[in-house]
Amino acid sequence: MAYCDHNATAPLRPEARKAVEHALSLTGNPSSVHAGGRAARATAEEAREAVARLAAAKSESVIFTSGATEANALALWGAVEAAMDAGKPITRLLVTAMEHKSVLKTAEAIAERVAGIRLEIVPVTADGVVDIQALTTLLQGEGRALVAVMAANNETGVVQPVAEISRLCRAAGALLLVDAVTAAGKIPLDAGLCDYMTLSGHKLGAPQGVGALIVTGPLVPQLVGGGQQKGLRAGTENLSGIAGFGAVAKAVLSNDEERMWLATLRDGFEHALKEAVPDAVILGANAPRLANTSNVALPGLAAENMVIALDLDGVMVSSGSSCSSGKIAASHVLAAMGKGDLSSIRVSFGWNSRSEDADAVMASLVKLWQRARPRAAA
Ligand code: PLP
Repeated sequence: MAYCDHNATAPLRPEARKAVEHALSLTGNPSSVHAGGRAARATAEEAREAVARLAAAKSESVIFTSGATEANALALWGAVEAAMDAGKPITRLLVTAMEHKSVLKTAEAIAERVAGIRLEIVPVTADGVVDIQALTTLLQGEGRALVAVMAANNETGVVQPVAEISRLCRAAGALLLVDAVTAAGKIPLDAGLCDYMTLSGHKLGAPQGVGALIVTGPLVPQLVGGGQQKGLRAGTENLSGIAGFGAVAKAVLSNDEERMWLATLRDGFEHALKEAVPDAVILGANAPRLANTSNVALPGLAAENMVIALDLDGVMVSSGSSCSSGKIAASHVLAAMGKGDLSSIRVSFGWNSRSEDADAVMASLVKLWQRARPRAAA
């Protein structure tokens, strides 16, 4: 089997497995004052430090959540409520057209439910980069804004100009949320550039169901109760998940060799694909991209057929479009790039990818292409 879908979820890293097993062996609620509680708390705090280092943040600003979906919702709703409470309400949500649905749908819900807030979509270029000119113009509009942008896109791997966007937001007095889920561990992060940054453990090789919001901006908690995590996110911490997240955060901070290997693997794959299928389109190829991601369209081949054919050959990739209620929907990211007519697959490598995996994707794609070509020509 060749697993080439790391942007969907990464296999559990050995470091995470060890940390999870250790955490599961502890008995104690991190809020308890006795020795067991203190040991659990020490484990959580060590992980908080590691996650903070990954994002160049202070550990006090890290709130553990159940994942990035919750972290994005907490940031958006929490910011909107806090700004309202402070008498400086946010009236505009400026969200890029390529954001993950956890951001887009939450922003839509806020605009629907909160009077006086509207959602404005920030366009992206044909290369999949935020349209800076359009964002600059939008930021000149009336009203306090909250901007949401990804550090790198999960479908194309295109890296976004976060430092420039941060300068624009600061100058306009806008708050900034950066979804750093896909970029984490692959490029350096700087939470100091934004007010809210979100992360997800399972994209890095921690277990699924743990993430973080790194917050320096105003925030009203959305889960209240026991007062855990300084009252910003109540609920007994998912200690084993948090420990696993901390372990992967440490591991990916010192993985330059891994990043170089991923770039070699991905570039080799794309080069071979272009040689075999010169008409293949590589999305975002003209923009800076994460080293591990390749989003490719083979004209005439539908994404869902490619995914199924590759799966039959033991190769796991994703269709770059979302699958809900059994229906494969066109990718909103490709549509945002003005490439909604293309049907593409996403090949994403990661910490345990081998050259055999890239070879297997290639072999399967070329076989499919050769089979489909006579039909396409007819
Ligand atoms: N943001 C991005 C860019 C993602 O790719 C994902 C997961 O697919 C999420 C947010 C949501 O993360 P989680 O699965 O931890 O809820």
